[in-house]
Amino acid sequence: MRAPAAAGARRAGWLLFAALSCIPALALCAPPLADVHVHYKWSQEDVTSAQQAVDTLMANNIALAVVIGTPADYALRLEELAPDRIVPVWSPYRTPGEWSSWAYDKGVLARARRALESGDYRGIGELHLIGGFTPHWRSPVISGLAAMAAQFDVPLLLHTELSRPDYMEGLCRAQPGTRILWAHAGAVLTPQQVSDVMTRCPNVWVELSARDPWRFINNPMSDPDGALLPPWRALIEAFPERFMIGSDPVWPVENLDSWDQADTGWQEYRRFIDFHRAWMSRLPPELEQKVRLTNALAFFRADVD
Ligand SMILES: [Zn+2]
Repeated sequence: MRAPAAAGARRAGWLLFAALSCIPALALCAPPLADVHVHYKWSQEDVTSAQQAVDTLMANNIALAVVIGTPADYALRLEELAPDRIVPVWSPYRTPGEWSSWAYDKGVLARARRALESGDYRGIGELHLIGGFTPHWRSPVISGLAAMAAQFDVPLLLHTELSRPDYMEGLCRAQPGTRILWAHAGAVLTPQQVSDVMTRCPNVWVELSARDPWRFINNPMSDPDGALLPPWRALIEAFPERFMIGSDPVWPVENLDSWDQADTGWQEYRRFIDFHRAWMSRLPPELEQKVRLTNALAFFRADVD
C-alpha cells in the first residue's frame, strides 16, 4: 500500500526539483527523457543506494525509467522511492552467471508467472540470448516466457548477441502477439539486418542503450563527433515510432557481476545519457521528441506529467 499523500509529496518534490534544475545558464536545462534500459543490481548496491540511484535519475531529468533488478525485487526498491517514474520489469536472474543459464531452468516459468500475477512488474527481461550459451527459441523456457508476455500483455526485453538476425526473426515471427523490445539494436548486427527484422516483425521495437563510444565499440553507431552514422540515422527515420534510448548503467563492462568488484555503472550515468542527448539534438525536433520520450511512454503505456 502506498499513502496517497506521500506519493503526492514525492511527486511535488520531483517537479520542484525538475523546475529548480532547469537553469539554462548552468547548462542544466535538459528536456525530459525516457530511459528504457536501467539496471539496479546487488553488485551496485555497495556503491549506489536506491536513493542515490533515484537521485541520479532526477538529476538527469528522467521522466520514465524502466528498471531491471538483479534480483528482480531490487527494481521495486527504486519504484518505492519514485512510483510515478519507475517501470519495474521482472528478471529471472538472482545470482551472477544466471544470464547464461536461465534458459535451461524450468523453474523460471513458474517464478515469472507468480511475479506477473502479483501485479508488481510491467514487463519481462532483460533476457540474454548469447551465441554459444542460448538454446533454440523453441525451447520451453524461451518460448514459454514469450507466450506469457503476450498473455499478460507486457513487453519482453531481449538482448541478442548473435552474428545473424535469423534467431530474432524466427522468434518474433513465431510470437506475433508478443511486444518485443530489442536491446542495443541487435548489439552486433548491421543496420540493414536490424531493418530487415523490423520490417518483417511489426511487434519488434528497438532501443539503443549501450550503443555509445564506450560499449559495443566494434560496431559503432556514431562518428567521433558523436553524430549518428548515416545508415543508423536512416534506420531511425524509417521507423520513427519504434526507437527508444537507454543508459544501461553497467560498468566496467568487462567485469560483469564479479564478486570482488562493485559495478559502478550509476557513477557513469550522466555521460551515457548525455551521449544520447547529443546525437538526438541533431534530429528534426518531432523525431527527437519521439525517440527521447514519447515512443517509450506509448510502449510502456506510461502517463507522466
Ligand atoms: Zn542490460
